[in-house]
Amino acid sequence: MENHWSTKMVTSTYGTSIWMAIRNFWPKLRENCSIRIGNGMKVSYWEDSWLEQGSLKTLFPDIYILNQQQKDTVAEVWSNQGWNLSFRRPLNDWEIQRLVDFFGILEQFKGTSTSQDGLFWNHNCNGNFSVKEAYKKFNSFTHQITVWPWELIWKVKIPPKVSCFTWLLAKQAVLTRENLMKRGIQLSPRCFLCGEEAETVNHLFLHCRITNILWSIFINSKGLLWVMPRNIVQALKIWSSFAYISGHKERWKIIPTCIWWSVWKERNLRCFQNKSNSIEKMKMNCLVLFQFWCKQEYMEDLESVLNALGTL
Ligand SMILES: [Zn+2]
Repeated sequence: MENHWSTKMVTSTYGTSIWMAIRNFWPKLRENCSIRIGNGMKVSYWEDSWLEQGSLKTLFPDIYILNQQQKDTVAEVWSNQGWNLSFRRPLNDWEIQRLVDFFGILEQFKGTSTSQDGLFWNHNCNGNFSVKEAYKKFNSFTHQITVWPWELIWKVKIPPKVSCFTWLLAKQAVLTRENLMKRGIQLSPRCFLCGEEAETVNHLFLHCRITNILWSIFINSKGLLWVMPRNIVQALKIWSSFAYISGHKERWKIIPTCIWWSVWKERNLRCFQNKSNSIEKMKMNCLVLFQFWCKQEYMEDLESVLNALGTL
């Protein structure tokens, strides 16, 4: 833990992209929260803004320098008798007025309690943090909401770990051979599926001729005129723009991720276990996964899978 409230900064580069992004958001989140003191054990006396006016260190840097408890929490400095402050030297006459001002500000403090200290989100009345509000707030001056397809990643009805995977894909951060080579790992760059082209994110998940066979199942089922987009974000957006041709928009939006997850599982089977499925088996796996996500129940027979396909 760092400073009682958050985990440490992420410094490793392997397999931590999502957590790193969340952790990088911490300073912004902290700026937009206020502290309500309970037992005072988590709150830094000098550095945290637990008074309305800001942190004591910022308001009284001259007193801070003289103080000997710069790392202490509120609980450590506070006692039932009042504030226990100790200074490096006796204060000079001209410093006394500053000390009076200092204690004047502290008058608003009513003492600690037995409850936990809390962080309260400043942008609604109940103080509860909401991802939706934070997203709106931090993107209000950009066009990111319309440019970045967050709804097509996070609001699609698929398992959360798969949403995270789609997010990594959209960020071009899934560990394909190309991305591993960028990190200095020496490998053959060949695609595990076709063995013909370099394994980039866009090749493996969009342009590989094997992957295209999976796309064709769905494209052909609706007679869609489809030109494969250049990247994942475009593919998500364009695919969802065709949702109107489907009788079931929610299921339609599952399809790209269903293909990508199937491709990634097959790719990893080939990469790590030196095994492979036939293209027919890959198609079946993809359809079964689609059926499973649609109904959240596992059915092995082809007829029920085709029924799900028929509902599109
Ligand atoms: Zn390929």
